[in-house]
Amino acid sequence: MPDRIALLPDAVAKQIAAGEVVQRPASVVKELLENAIDAEAKGVDLIIKDAGRTSVQVVDDGYGMSPADARLSFERHATSKIKTTADLFQIATQGFRGEALASIAAVAQVEMRTRTEGAETAAFLQMEGGELTAQKTIQAAKGTSIAVKKLFYNIPARRNFLKSDPIELRHSIDEFERIALAHPQVRFTLLSNGKELFRLASENLRQRIVHIFGKKMDEKLVPIEEETEIVKITGFIGKSDAARKKRGEQFFFANRRFIKAPYFNHAVLDAYEGLLTPGSYPSYFIFFEVDPQKIDINIHPTKTEVKFEDEKPIYSILRSSVRHALGMYNVTPSLDFSSNPDLEVGRSDTRTIRQPQIRVDPDFNPFAASPRHKGSSPSESQAWRDLYRESRSAATEGTRGEMDSAQADAAYMQVHKQYILVQTQNALLLIHQYRAHQRILYDTFLKSLRAARTLGQRLLFPVAIALNPSEVQSLDLLREDLCKLGFDFELKESTLNIGSAPSEIKPENIKTSLEKLLEQAQNHTASDPKLKEATALTLASQAAIRKGHTLTVAEMQSLVKALFARRENSFSPQGKRIYHKIALSEITRQFDR
Ligand code: ADP
Ligand code: MG
Repeated sequence: MPDRIALLPDAVAKQIAAGEVVQRPASVVKELLENAIDAEAKGVDLIIKDAGRTSVQVVDDGYGMSPADARLSFERHATSKIKTTADLFQIATQGFRGEALASIAAVAQVEMRTRTEGAETAAFLQMEGGELTAQKTIQAAKGTSIAVKKLFYNIPARRNFLKSDPIELRHSIDEFERIALAHPQVRFTLLSNGKELFRLASENLRQRIVHIFGKKMDEKLVPIEEETEIVKITGFIGKSDAARKKRGEQFFFANRRFIKAPYFNHAVLDAYEGLLTPGSYPSYFIFFEVDPQKIDINIHPTKTEVKFEDEKPIYSILRSSVRHALGMYNVTPSLDFSSNPDLEVGRSDTRTIRQPQIRVDPDFNPFAASPRHKGSSPSESQAWRDLYRESRSAATEGTRGEMDSAQADAAYMQVHKQYILVQTQNALLLIHQYRAHQRILYDTFLKSLRAARTLGQRLLFPVAIALNPSEVQSLDLLREDLCKLGFDFELKESTLNIGSAPSEIKPENIKTSLEKLLEQAQNHTASDPKLKEATALTLASQAAIRKGHTLTVAEMQSLVKALFARRENSFSPQGKRIYHKIALSEITRQFDR
């Protein structure tokens, strides 16, 4: 029998190893940003093109590399950060394996420009598929710029596994946010396809959080601080009434490194016990400082999981310090919010935890607006009743409902491509087009989910999506619901082929919509009663017309008609106001001054 075993060609071995470190553009973002931090940069620019498919570039003003180090940096196990096994237990830098640049260079085209403080010239290196293809001396500022182009150009299978641009970009932004939060003293910018998404000055943690997550965060943050022999805990937690419906703004850092820590998350949630409405999640930004010898960051190649030696005591310390912080700022009253409706109304600006309320304005009639039908004549209220009845059935078809020709002369105007202005008998209504449509679609989808199956629209060009293993699992969870909504699909190997989709979803949005559905399903179990609502919301949010989308009069009409045909028309599924009414009397008053 001939010998069977052969050594893998070097290039193949490198590609396999690279798979551990580089899963998607966001992995490149993470590694390059960490290297910039390790190089003691004070300012870091991240420039992304086409969600990282075309290029990811990081420019830092750190200590740079000599030409020889620059060349070595692409070798596997080349690192300036550890030299002995003992160093492994004292890691103070983000990286230490010396794997990232080698891995990235194996699966992309990389250009590096770097200069150290004292050097007169800078080094330029070009790598392709792990090989050095050019090296020269150039002029450049102190620091390092690394551009990673055409990621996975030599591994088409990997390239095909990438998700849609919005999802890939989101992953990169997540990495950016984690590192920017951990290093608020460092300046950062993020440019995506020429658009500046972030410009963060050197600042303190609170300012950094506010600059990343928005001004609304400011009044919601409560500092947390605790120092013991085994751990120092600092950071901020969100007040309980500011909890969000969506998981997300939850961050743990161990020695300035972002970590995932379900166990500690549990400690935090435990501290909030009784303060949160079901299905809402508190925000937190919590930093642990521990002796590097007492944590093992080495257990996972992408290093988001860590093992703490003193896990149990840290759990208790964390829980009590969160409780303490909540109590100190007097946000842990012993009141039960849900049993005190007044308190809820008083907190009406905490937009996420309150269930949308039904507010009915009995005088309200958006179609009484036509100047030809002034006053509330009997025929008009008849028309309204007719319309109401008709629009009820049209409502289920969203904006595609047949337009009611009798209403063609009502006054509609689109304002700044985001609001619909409707004149009513004694008021002006400004309707938020996205939220109105989101509400209509949400109700429609939820209805489909609670009914037997809905027939979708056959697609002219079937859509294929490559799924990763966890998405295949989510698919199992959602299978029945997807059919009910009108999706028709087949899973072959790990590719999902979609033949039909709900008619409310534009073909070009199908891929992203499904990806979002599968992504959010990962937060649920099959028996979770909230799964259907979450599914309807995700889909409605994807399919609703956005601001910037021009509407025809007919579209505005059917949208408004469908909106007011439903019981809940004041608030979006996320509890946000759908329309604003300006009474004629208010307008008159303005002119009487
Ligand atoms: P690690 O960070 O684990 O050491 P990397 O492959 O990420 O491994 O980087 C290899 C080496 O290249 C680093 O140890 C460092 O010496 C050098 N290096 C990488 N990026 C930079 C940078 N932006 N500035 C200065 N040196 C860098
Ligand atoms: Mg590194």
